[in-house]
Amino acid sequence: MEQEYGLFIDGKWTAPPGANRFRTINPATREPVGSFVAGTTGDVDRAIGAAAKAFPAWKETPAPKRGEILLEAARVMKQRKAELGRLVTREMGKVIGEGLGDVQESIDFIEYMSGEGRRLFGETVPSELRSKFCLTVLQPKGVVACITPWNFPTAIPNWKIAAALITGNTVVFKPASNTAACGAEVVKVYEAAGVPPGVLNLVTGSGAVVGNAMVVDPRVRAVSFTGGTDAGRDVYVRGAQGLKMVHLELGGKNPVLLMEDADLPLALEGVLFGAFGTSGQRCTATSRLIVHEKVHESFLKMLTDRLDRFSVGDPLDPKTGMGPVASADQEKKILGYIEIGRKEATLRYGGAKLTGGAYDQGFFLQPTIFETKHGTRISKEEIFGPVLSVIRVGSYEEAVRVANDVEYGLSSSIYTKDVNRAFRAIRELEAGITYVNAPTIGAEVQLPFGGVKNTGNGGREAGSAAIGEFTEIKTVFVDFSAKLQKAQIDSESAA
Ligand code: NAD
Repeated sequence: MEQEYGLFIDGKWTAPPGANRFRTINPATREPVGSFVAGTTGDVDRAIGAAAKAFPAWKETPAPKRGEILLEAARVMKQRKAELGRLVTREMGKVIGEGLGDVQESIDFIEYMSGEGRRLFGETVPSELRSKFCLTVLQPKGVVACITPWNFPTAIPNWKIAAALITGNTVVFKPASNTAACGAEVVKVYEAAGVPPGVLNLVTGSGAVVGNAMVVDPRVRAVSFTGGTDAGRDVYVRGAQGLKMVHLELGGKNPVLLMEDADLPLALEGVLFGAFGTSGQRCTATSRLIVHEKVHESFLKMLTDRLDRFSVGDPLDPKTGMGPVASADQEKKILGYIEIGRKEATLRYGGAKLTGGAYDQGFFLQPTIFETKHGTRISKEEIFGPVLSVIRVGSYEEAVRVANDVEYGLSSSIYTKDVNRAFRAIRELEAGITYVNAPTIGAEVQLPFGGVKNTGNGGREAGSAAIGEFTEIKTVFVDFSAKLQKAQIDSESAA
Protein backbone atom coordinates (compact mmCIF):
# COMPACT_ATOMS: atom_id res chain seq x y z
CA MET A 1 0.00 0.00 0.00
CA GLU A 2 1.36 3.41 -0.98
CA GLN A 3 1.71 5.97 1.78
CA GLU A 4 1.51 9.69 1.04
CA TYR A 5 4.08 12.02 2.66
CA GLY A 6 4.43 15.79 2.80
CA LEU A 7 7.35 18.02 3.64
CA PHE A 8 8.21 18.59 7.30
CA ILE A 9 8.84 22.28 7.92
CA ASP A 10 8.70 24.15 11.23
CA GLY A 11 7.20 21.18 13.02
CA LYS A 12 4.37 20.62 10.54
CA TRP A 13 3.80 18.12 7.74
CA THR A 14 2.70 20.14 4.73
CA ALA A 15 1.95 19.37 1.12
CA PRO A 16 1.82 22.55 -0.96
CA PRO A 17 -1.38 22.43 -3.06
CA GLY A 18 -0.72 21.41 -6.67
CA ALA A 19 2.85 20.30 -5.88
CA ASN A 20 4.47 17.81 -8.23
CA ARG A 21 4.91 14.41 -6.65
CA PHE A 22 7.19 11.43 -7.17
CA ARG A 23 6.97 7.91 -5.81
CA THR A 24 9.21 5.14 -4.57
CA ILE A 25 8.78 1.50 -5.48
CA ASN A 26 9.79 -1.83 -4.01
CA PRO A 27 12.74 -2.98 -6.16
CA ALA A 28 11.75 -6.64 -5.61
CA THR A 29 8.17 -6.25 -6.84
CA ARG A 30 7.83 -2.76 -8.35
CA GLU A 31 4.89 -2.17 -5.98
CA PRO A 32 4.53 1.45 -4.88
CA VAL A 33 5.86 2.28 -1.41
CA GLY A 34 5.42 6.02 -0.96
CA SER A 35 4.43 9.24 -2.71
CA PHE A 36 6.33 12.47 -1.99
CA VAL A 37 6.37 16.16 -2.75
CA ALA A 38 9.00 17.12 -5.33
CA GLY A 39 10.31 20.07 -3.32
CA THR A 40 11.06 23.43 -4.89
CA THR A 41 13.61 26.11 -4.09
CA GLY A 42 10.75 27.94 -2.32
CA ASP A 43 10.21 24.93 -0.05
CA VAL A 44 13.92 24.83 0.75
CA ASP A 45 13.84 28.56 1.51
CA ARG A 46 11.00 28.02 4.02
CA ALA A 47 12.77 25.03 5.60
CA ILE A 48 16.03 26.94 6.03
CA GLY A 49 14.06 29.92 7.40
CA ALA A 50 12.43 27.65 10.00
CA ALA A 51 15.79 26.11 10.93
CA ALA A 52 17.39 29.56 11.28
CA LYS A 53 14.52 30.74 13.50
CA ALA A 54 14.76 27.65 15.73
CA PHE A 55 18.56 27.82 16.08
CA PRO A 56 19.02 30.29 18.98
CA ALA A 57 16.69 28.41 21.34
CA TRP A 58 18.05 24.97 20.39
CA LYS A 59 21.61 26.17 20.80
CA GLU A 60 20.77 27.43 24.30
CA THR A 61 19.03 24.18 25.26
CA PRO A 62 21.46 22.45 27.65
CA ALA A 63 23.27 19.69 25.77
CA PRO A 64 22.23 17.00 28.33
CA LYS A 65 18.61 18.00 27.67
CA ARG A 66 19.20 17.63 23.93
CA GLY A 67 20.67 14.24 24.79
CA GLU A 68 17.47 13.23 26.60
CA ILE A 69 15.46 13.99 23.46
CA LEU A 70 17.87 11.88 21.42
CA LEU A 71 17.61 9.03 23.89
CA GLU A 72 13.86 9.18 23.49
CA ALA A 73 14.33 9.05 19.68
CA ALA A 74 16.42 5.90 20.14
CA ARG A 75 13.65 4.42 22.28
CA VAL A 76 10.99 5.22 19.66
CA MET A 77 13.20 3.75 16.96
CA LYS A 78 13.66 0.57 19.04
CA GLN A 79 9.92 0.27 19.47
CA ARG A 80 9.47 0.61 15.71
CA LYS A 81 12.48 -1.52 14.73
CA ALA A 82 10.59 -4.42 13.11
CA GLU A 83 8.34 -2.12 11.08
CA LEU A 84 11.17 0.19 9.99
CA GLY A 85 13.46 -2.73 9.11
CA ARG A 86 10.74 -4.05 6.84
CA LEU A 87 10.34 -0.62 5.27
CA VAL A 88 14.09 -0.45 4.55
CA THR A 89 13.85 -3.83 2.81
CA ARG A 90 10.68 -2.91 0.92
CA GLU A 91 12.00 0.42 -0.31
CA MET A 92 15.65 -0.39 -0.93
CA GLY A 93 15.83 -4.17 -1.41
CA LYS A 94 18.48 -5.26 1.12
CA VAL A 95 17.62 -8.57 2.81
CA ILE A 96 15.57 -8.31 5.99
CA GLY A 97 18.46 -9.12 8.35
CA GLU A 98 20.34 -6.18 6.85
CA GLY A 99 17.20 -4.01 6.86
CA LEU A 100 16.91 -4.58 10.61
CA GLY A 101 20.68 -4.01 10.90
CA ASP A 102 20.26 -0.61 9.22
CA VAL A 103 17.73 0.38 11.89
CA GLN A 104 19.86 -1.11 14.71
CA GLU A 105 22.80 0.98 13.52
CA SER A 106 20.54 4.03 13.76
CA ILE A 107 19.52 3.11 17.32
CA ASP A 108 23.13 2.48 18.34
CA PHE A 109 24.30 5.79 16.95
CA ILE A 110 21.49 7.88 18.42
CA GLU A 111 22.13 6.31 21.83
CA TYR A 112 25.86 6.93 21.50
CA MET A 113 25.28 10.56 20.51
CA SER A 114 22.77 11.12 23.33
CA GLY A 115 25.63 10.43 25.77
CA GLU A 116 27.74 13.07 24.03
CA GLY A 117 25.28 15.59 25.51
CA ARG A 118 27.09 15.06 28.81
CA ARG A 119 30.54 15.28 27.24
CA LEU A 120 31.12 17.70 24.32
CA PHE A 121 34.51 18.24 25.92
CA GLY A 122 36.67 21.26 25.31
CA GLU A 123 40.26 21.61 26.51
CA THR A 124 41.96 23.57 29.24
CA VAL A 125 45.41 24.72 28.20
CA PRO A 126 48.11 26.48 30.25
CA SER A 127 48.76 30.14 29.54
CA GLU A 128 52.25 31.60 29.04
CA LEU A 129 51.17 34.45 31.33
CA ARG A 130 50.37 34.49 35.04
CA SER A 131 46.78 34.80 36.26
CA LYS A 132 45.38 33.90 32.89
CA PHE A 133 43.16 30.93 32.18
CA CYS A 134 42.76 29.41 28.68
CA LEU A 135 40.19 26.98 27.43
CA THR A 136 38.20 25.92 24.40
CA VAL A 137 34.47 25.31 24.09
CA LEU A 138 32.56 23.66 21.25
CA GLN A 139 29.80 25.65 19.63
CA PRO A 140 27.28 24.63 16.96
CA LYS A 141 27.75 25.87 13.43
CA GLY A 142 24.13 26.95 12.91
CA VAL A 143 21.85 25.60 10.18
CA VAL A 144 23.34 22.50 8.58
CA ALA A 145 22.23 20.55 5.51
CA CYS A 146 22.24 16.75 5.56
CA ILE A 147 22.07 15.12 2.12
CA THR A 148 22.02 11.32 2.02
CA PRO A 149 22.10 8.35 -0.39
CA TRP A 150 19.75 5.37 -0.59
CA ASN A 151 21.98 2.48 0.44
CA PHE A 152 21.69 2.95 4.23
CA PRO A 153 18.38 4.78 4.20
CA THR A 154 17.94 5.12 7.98
CA ALA A 155 21.50 4.72 9.29
CA ILE A 156 23.23 7.42 7.21
CA PRO A 157 20.54 10.05 7.90
CA ASN A 158 20.84 9.28 11.60
CA TRP A 159 24.64 9.46 11.56
CA LYS A 160 24.24 13.02 10.40
CA ILE A 161 21.06 14.18 12.14
CA ALA A 162 21.88 12.84 15.62
CA ALA A 163 25.40 14.31 15.55
CA ALA A 164 24.13 17.66 14.24
CA LEU A 165 21.36 17.89 16.85
CA ILE A 166 23.36 16.91 19.92
CA THR A 167 25.90 19.62 19.11
CA GLY A 168 23.13 22.24 18.95
CA ASN A 169 22.69 22.74 15.22
CA THR A 170 19.37 22.86 13.41
CA VAL A 171 18.95 20.72 10.31
CA VAL A 172 17.52 20.74 6.81
CA PHE A 173 17.50 17.17 5.54
CA LYS A 174 17.15 15.79 2.02
CA PRO A 175 17.07 11.99 1.65
CA ALA A 176 17.76 10.14 -1.60
CA SER A 177 14.63 10.16 -3.75
CA ASN A 178 14.33 6.38 -4.04
CA THR A 179 14.33 5.88 -0.25
CA ALA A 180 12.31 8.94 0.70
CA ALA A 181 9.86 6.97 2.90
CA CYS A 182 12.73 5.78 5.09
CA GLY A 183 13.94 9.39 5.30
CA ALA A 184 10.48 10.67 6.24
CA GLU A 185 10.02 7.95 8.88
CA VAL A 186 13.36 8.89 10.45
CA VAL A 187 12.03 12.45 10.79
CA LYS A 188 8.81 11.12 12.37
CA VAL A 189 10.92 9.35 15.01
CA TYR A 190 12.54 12.65 16.05
CA GLU A 191 9.15 14.39 15.92
CA ALA A 192 7.70 11.76 18.27
CA ALA A 193 10.72 12.17 20.56
CA GLY A 194 9.90 15.86 21.06
CA VAL A 195 12.41 17.69 18.86
CA PRO A 196 11.04 21.28 18.84
CA PRO A 197 9.51 22.80 15.67
CA GLY A 198 12.07 24.01 13.11
CA VAL A 199 14.98 22.07 14.65
CA LEU A 200 14.72 19.29 12.05
CA ASN A 201 13.15 19.93 8.64
CA LEU A 202 12.65 17.57 5.71
CA VAL A 203 12.46 18.56 2.05
CA THR A 204 12.16 15.71 -0.43
CA GLY A 205 13.04 16.13 -4.09
CA SER A 206 15.90 16.06 -6.54
CA GLY A 207 19.55 16.74 -5.85
CA ALA A 208 19.67 19.30 -8.64
CA VAL A 209 16.85 21.42 -7.18
CA VAL A 210 16.48 20.69 -3.44
CA GLY A 211 20.04 19.53 -2.70
CA ASN A 212 21.58 22.36 -4.64
CA ALA A 213 19.36 25.01 -3.02
CA MET A 214 20.52 23.77 0.40
CA VAL A 215 24.17 23.82 -0.62
CA VAL A 216 24.20 27.37 -2.02
CA ASP A 217 22.02 29.11 0.60
CA PRO A 218 24.21 31.45 2.68
CA ARG A 219 22.21 30.68 5.85
CA VAL A 220 23.44 27.06 5.71
CA ARG A 221 26.83 26.99 7.44
CA ALA A 222 27.79 23.36 6.84
CA VAL A 223 26.83 20.59 4.45
CA SER A 224 27.17 16.93 5.32
CA PHE A 225 26.95 14.94 2.10
CA THR A 226 27.17 11.21 1.42
CA GLY A 227 26.90 10.01 -2.15
CA GLY A 228 28.81 9.51 -5.38
CA THR A 229 32.17 11.16 -6.06
CA ASP A 230 30.93 13.23 -9.03
CA ALA A 231 27.97 14.68 -7.12
CA GLY A 232 30.20 15.22 -4.08
CA ARG A 233 32.76 17.15 -6.09
CA ASP A 234 29.97 19.36 -7.45
CA VAL A 235 28.60 19.97 -3.94
CA TYR A 236 32.12 20.81 -2.70
CA VAL A 237 32.66 23.38 -5.44
CA ARG A 238 29.29 25.06 -4.87
CA GLY A 239 29.69 25.04 -1.10
CA ALA A 240 33.15 26.56 -1.46
CA GLN A 241 31.61 29.69 -2.99
CA GLY A 242 29.98 30.33 0.38
CA LEU A 243 33.16 29.29 2.25
CA LYS A 244 31.13 26.74 4.12
CA MET A 245 32.35 23.55 5.66
CA VAL A 246 31.44 20.67 3.30
CA HIS A 247 31.84 17.19 4.71
CA LEU A 248 32.00 14.50 1.99
CA GLU A 249 31.68 10.71 2.23
CA LEU A 250 31.98 9.36 -1.33
CA GLY A 251 32.69 6.28 -3.44
CA GLY A 252 34.92 3.27 -2.91
CA LYS A 253 36.67 0.38 -4.66
CA ASN A 254 37.47 -1.68 -1.63
CA PRO A 255 39.99 -4.53 -1.78
CA VAL A 256 40.40 -7.73 0.16
CA LEU A 257 44.02 -8.92 0.07
CA LEU A 258 44.01 -12.69 0.35
CA MET A 259 47.46 -13.98 1.21
CA GLU A 260 48.77 -17.49 0.68
CA ASP A 261 48.74 -18.21 4.44
CA ALA A 262 45.13 -17.07 4.98
CA ASP A 263 42.44 -19.11 6.70
CA LEU A 264 40.57 -19.80 3.45
CA PRO A 265 37.20 -20.96 4.90
CA LEU A 266 37.12 -17.82 7.08
CA ALA A 267 38.01 -15.65 4.08
CA LEU A 268 35.34 -17.35 2.00
CA GLU A 269 32.52 -16.27 4.30
CA GLY A 270 34.04 -12.77 4.59
CA VAL A 271 34.41 -12.27 0.84
CA LEU A 272 30.90 -13.55 0.22
CA PHE A 273 29.36 -11.17 2.77
CA GLY A 274 31.62 -8.29 1.74
CA ALA A 275 30.98 -8.61 -1.99
CA PHE A 276 27.34 -9.61 -2.10
CA GLY A 277 25.85 -8.21 1.14
CA THR A 278 23.36 -5.43 0.29
CA SER A 279 23.76 -6.67 -3.32
CA GLY A 280 27.25 -5.11 -3.36
CA GLN A 281 25.75 -1.67 -2.75
CA ARG A 282 27.56 -0.77 0.46
CA CYS A 283 30.08 2.02 0.10
CA THR A 284 32.46 -0.40 1.86
CA ALA A 285 31.51 -3.42 -0.28
CA THR A 286 34.35 -5.70 -1.35
CA SER A 287 34.66 -5.04 -5.07
CA ARG A 288 38.22 -6.36 -5.56
CA LEU A 289 39.70 -9.62 -4.38
CA ILE A 290 43.47 -9.35 -4.72
CA VAL A 291 44.63 -12.89 -4.28
CA HIS A 292 48.02 -14.55 -4.04
CA GLU A 293 48.71 -16.87 -6.98
CA LYS A 294 49.39 -19.82 -4.65
CA VAL A 295 45.73 -19.87 -3.50
CA HIS A 296 44.10 -18.16 -6.48
CA GLU A 297 42.58 -21.16 -8.22
CA SER A 298 41.63 -23.11 -5.12
CA PHE A 299 39.91 -20.07 -3.56
CA LEU A 300 38.04 -19.20 -6.76
CA LYS A 301 36.72 -22.75 -6.85
CA MET A 302 35.61 -22.53 -3.21
CA LEU A 303 33.90 -19.22 -3.95
CA THR A 304 32.05 -20.34 -7.08
CA ASP A 305 31.01 -23.64 -5.43
CA ARG A 306 29.67 -21.68 -2.48
CA LEU A 307 27.74 -19.32 -4.78
CA ASP A 308 25.93 -22.31 -6.24
CA ARG A 309 24.31 -22.60 -2.81
CA PHE A 310 23.64 -18.86 -2.43
CA SER A 311 20.03 -17.79 -2.92
CA VAL A 312 18.94 -14.61 -4.64
CA GLY A 313 15.30 -13.69 -4.22
CA ASP A 314 12.66 -12.24 -1.94
CA PRO A 315 14.54 -9.96 0.47
CA LEU A 316 11.79 -10.30 3.09
CA ASP A 317 12.46 -14.04 3.32
CA PRO A 318 15.05 -14.53 6.10
CA LYS A 319 16.65 -17.41 4.16
CA THR A 320 17.51 -15.25 1.13
CA GLY A 321 21.21 -14.44 0.67
CA MET A 322 20.83 -11.48 -1.67
CA GLY A 323 17.87 -9.34 -2.73
CA PRO A 324 17.44 -7.16 -5.81
CA VAL A 325 19.57 -4.14 -6.63
CA ALA A 326 17.97 -0.89 -5.56
CA SER A 327 16.48 0.50 -8.77
CA ALA A 328 16.12 0.27 -12.54
CA ASP A 329 18.96 2.81 -12.84
CA GLN A 330 21.20 0.68 -10.65
CA GLU A 331 20.37 -2.42 -12.68
CA LYS A 332 21.15 -0.63 -15.95
CA LYS A 333 24.45 0.73 -14.69
CA ILE A 334 25.60 -2.61 -13.27
CA LEU A 335 24.61 -4.54 -16.41
CA GLY A 336 26.57 -1.93 -18.38
CA TYR A 337 29.67 -2.72 -16.31
CA ILE A 338 29.07 -6.46 -16.76
CA GLU A 339 29.12 -5.88 -20.54
CA ILE A 340 32.39 -3.97 -20.19
CA GLY A 341 33.75 -6.83 -18.07
CA ARG A 342 32.81 -9.43 -20.67
CA LYS A 343 35.00 -7.57 -23.18
CA GLU A 344 38.04 -6.87 -21.02
CA ALA A 345 38.10 -9.77 -18.55
CA THR A 346 37.10 -13.42 -18.02
CA LEU A 347 33.66 -14.07 -16.56
CA ARG A 348 33.95 -16.73 -13.84
CA TYR A 349 30.45 -16.62 -12.37
CA GLY A 350 27.01 -15.11 -13.04
CA GLY A 351 26.94 -12.11 -15.35
CA ALA A 352 23.23 -11.91 -16.10
CA LYS A 353 19.90 -10.52 -15.03
CA LEU A 354 17.73 -13.14 -13.33
CA THR A 355 14.46 -13.77 -15.13
CA GLY A 356 11.35 -15.91 -14.82
CA GLY A 357 8.65 -15.98 -12.14
CA ALA A 358 9.04 -13.43 -9.35
CA TYR A 359 12.39 -12.30 -10.79
CA ASP A 360 10.54 -10.62 -13.68
CA GLN A 361 8.89 -8.19 -11.26
CA GLY A 362 12.12 -6.80 -9.82
CA PHE A 363 15.75 -5.86 -10.41
CA PHE A 364 17.49 -9.15 -9.67
CA LEU A 365 21.04 -9.83 -10.84
CA GLN A 366 23.26 -12.86 -10.44
CA PRO A 367 26.23 -12.49 -8.14
CA THR A 368 29.02 -11.99 -10.64
CA ILE A 369 32.75 -12.71 -10.59
CA PHE A 370 35.31 -11.63 -13.16
CA GLU A 371 38.93 -12.68 -13.30
CA THR A 372 40.79 -9.63 -14.51
CA LYS A 373 44.18 -8.02 -14.77
CA HIS A 374 44.68 -4.89 -12.68
CA GLY A 375 44.06 -1.79 -14.77
CA THR A 376 40.82 -2.74 -16.51
CA ARG A 377 37.80 -0.50 -15.97
CA ILE A 378 35.99 -3.09 -13.84
CA SER A 379 39.07 -3.35 -11.61
CA LYS A 380 39.32 0.41 -11.02
CA GLU A 381 35.89 2.07 -11.31
CA GLU A 382 33.16 1.91 -8.68
CA ILE A 383 30.38 -0.41 -9.95
CA PHE A 384 28.27 -0.41 -6.77
CA GLY A 385 26.65 -3.77 -7.41
CA PRO A 386 27.19 -7.51 -6.90
CA VAL A 387 30.25 -7.69 -9.14
CA LEU A 388 33.61 -8.87 -7.78
CA SER A 389 36.87 -8.40 -9.71
CA VAL A 390 39.45 -11.05 -8.84
CA ILE A 391 43.05 -9.99 -9.48
CA ARG A 392 45.93 -12.47 -9.20
CA VAL A 393 49.21 -11.25 -7.70
CA GLY A 394 52.59 -12.85 -6.96
CA SER A 395 53.46 -11.23 -3.64
CA TYR A 396 52.25 -9.12 -0.71
CA GLU A 397 54.10 -6.11 -2.16
CA GLU A 398 52.30 -6.44 -5.49
CA ALA A 399 48.98 -6.85 -3.69
CA VAL A 400 49.48 -3.55 -1.85
CA ARG A 401 50.57 -1.77 -5.06
CA VAL A 402 47.42 -2.97 -6.84
CA ALA A 403 45.19 -2.18 -3.85
CA ASN A 404 46.45 1.40 -3.70
CA ASP A 405 46.36 2.09 -7.45
CA VAL A 406 42.75 3.36 -7.58
CA GLU A 407 41.28 6.81 -7.05
CA TYR A 408 39.36 5.75 -3.92
CA GLY A 409 40.40 4.87 -0.37
CA LEU A 410 37.48 3.94 1.87
CA SER A 411 37.81 0.40 3.25
CA SER A 412 40.34 -2.41 2.87
CA SER A 413 41.06 -5.82 4.33
CA ILE A 414 43.81 -8.40 4.57
CA TYR A 415 43.47 -12.09 5.35
CA THR A 416 46.77 -13.46 6.66
CA LYS A 417 48.09 -15.35 9.69
CA ASP A 418 51.38 -13.43 9.59
CA VAL A 419 51.13 -10.75 12.27
CA ASN A 420 54.02 -8.74 10.83
CA ARG A 421 52.37 -8.61 7.44
CA ALA A 422 49.05 -7.62 9.01
CA PHE A 423 50.69 -4.63 10.71
CA ARG A 424 52.48 -3.68 7.49
CA ALA A 425 49.11 -3.70 5.71
CA ILE A 426 47.60 -1.47 8.39
CA ARG A 427 50.42 0.99 7.69
CA GLU A 428 50.58 0.64 3.90
CA LEU A 429 47.01 0.35 2.63
CA GLU A 430 45.75 3.75 1.47
CA ALA A 431 42.29 3.66 3.03
CA GLY A 432 40.37 5.23 5.90
CA ILE A 433 39.55 1.76 7.27
CA THR A 434 41.56 -1.50 7.36
CA TYR A 435 40.22 -4.81 8.63
CA VAL A 436 42.44 -7.76 9.52
CA ASN A 437 40.90 -11.19 8.98
CA ALA A 438 37.45 -9.68 8.47
CA PRO A 439 35.62 -8.36 5.41
CA THR A 440 35.68 -4.73 4.25
CA ILE A 441 32.25 -4.13 5.78
CA GLY A 442 31.18 -3.96 9.42
CA ALA A 443 31.55 -0.41 10.72
CA GLU A 444 30.74 0.22 14.37
CA VAL A 445 29.21 3.54 15.36
CA GLN A 446 31.66 4.37 18.15
CA LEU A 447 34.58 4.50 15.70
CA PRO A 448 35.31 7.15 13.09
CA PHE A 449 34.24 6.36 9.53
CA GLY A 450 35.52 7.83 6.28
CA GLY A 451 38.06 7.56 3.54
CA VAL A 452 41.11 9.05 1.86
CA LYS A 453 41.82 10.16 -1.72
CA ASN A 454 38.63 10.65 -3.79
CA THR A 455 36.47 9.02 -1.12
CA GLY A 456 36.24 12.27 0.77
CA ASN A 457 37.87 15.50 1.80
CA GLY A 458 39.43 14.54 5.08
CA GLY A 459 36.55 14.46 7.55
CA ARG A 460 35.21 11.51 9.48
CA GLU A 461 31.69 10.60 10.53
CA ALA A 462 30.60 8.59 13.58
CA GLY A 463 32.64 8.06 16.73
CA SER A 464 33.83 11.12 18.57
CA ALA A 465 35.00 12.52 15.19
CA ALA A 466 31.34 13.24 14.37
CA ILE A 467 31.39 16.05 16.93
CA GLY A 468 34.08 17.89 14.97
CA GLU A 469 31.98 17.72 11.82
CA PHE A 470 29.27 19.88 13.35
CA THR A 471 31.05 22.23 15.76
CA GLU A 472 33.23 25.30 15.80
CA ILE A 473 35.97 25.61 18.39
CA LYS A 474 35.75 28.80 20.44
CA THR A 475 39.04 29.68 22.14
CA VAL A 476 38.61 31.56 25.42
CA PHE A 477 41.19 33.58 27.40
CA VAL A 478 40.26 34.76 30.89
CA ASP A 479 42.77 37.23 32.34
CA PHE A 480 42.28 37.66 36.10
CA SER A 481 45.49 39.65 36.73
CA ALA A 482 43.60 42.97 36.60
CA LYS A 483 46.28 44.47 34.35
CA LEU A 484 47.09 44.43 30.64
CA GLN A 485 49.33 41.44 29.92
CA LYS A 486 50.80 41.11 26.44
CA ALA A 487 51.34 37.59 25.07
CA GLN A 488 54.80 37.03 23.54
CA ILE A 489 55.96 40.47 24.83
CA ASP A 490 55.36 40.14 28.59
CA SER A 491 55.81 36.36 28.67
CA GLU A 492 58.50 35.18 31.06
CA SER A 493 59.90 32.97 28.33
CA ALA A 494 60.47 36.13 26.21
CA ALA A 495 62.71 37.68 28.87
P1 NAD B 1 24.23 10.27 -5.42
O1 NAD B 1 25.50 11.03 -5.41
O2 NAD B 1 23.53 10.09 -6.70
O3 NAD B 1 23.16 10.96 -4.44
C1 NAD B 1 23.39 11.17 -3.06
C2 NAD B 1 22.47 12.28 -2.58
O4 NAD B 1 22.90 13.51 -3.13
C3 NAD B 1 21.02 12.13 -3.01
O5 NAD B 1 20.17 12.60 -1.98
C4 NAD B 1 20.94 13.03 -4.23
O6 NAD B 1 19.64 13.47 -4.53
C5 NAD B 1 21.85 14.17 -3.82
N1 NAD B 1 22.46 14.93 -4.90
C6 NAD B 1 22.86 14.47 -6.11
N2 NAD B 1 23.41 15.48 -6.83
C7 NAD B 1 23.40 16.58 -6.05
C8 NAD B 1 23.83 17.92 -6.22
N3 NAD B 1 24.40 18.33 -7.36
N4 NAD B 1 23.66 18.80 -5.22
C9 NAD B 1 23.11 18.39 -4.04
N5 NAD B 1 22.65 17.14 -3.83
C10 NAD B 1 22.80 16.23 -4.81
O7 NAD B 1 24.54 8.87 -4.72
P2 NAD B 1 23.59 7.62 -4.52
O8 NAD B 1 23.41 6.95 -5.85
O9 NAD B 1 22.40 8.00 -3.73
O10 NAD B 1 24.51 6.69 -3.59
C11 NAD B 1 25.51 5.86 -4.06
C12 NAD B 1 26.90 6.49 -3.86
O11 NAD B 1 27.04 6.87 -2.51
C13 NAD B 1 28.02 5.53 -4.15
O12 NAD B 1 29.03 6.18 -4.88
C14 NAD B 1 28.53 5.15 -2.78
O13 NAD B 1 29.88 4.76 -2.73
C15 NAD B 1 28.32 6.43 -2.03
N6 NAD B 1 28.26 6.19 -0.60
C16 NAD B 1 29.34 6.56 0.14
C17 NAD B 1 29.34 6.33 1.51
C18 NAD B 1 30.51 6.74 2.37
O14 NAD B 1 30.33 6.84 3.57
N7 NAD B 1 31.68 6.97 1.82
C19 NAD B 1 28.22 5.73 2.12
C20 NAD B 1 27.15 5.36 1.32
C21 NAD B 1 27.17 5.60 -0.04
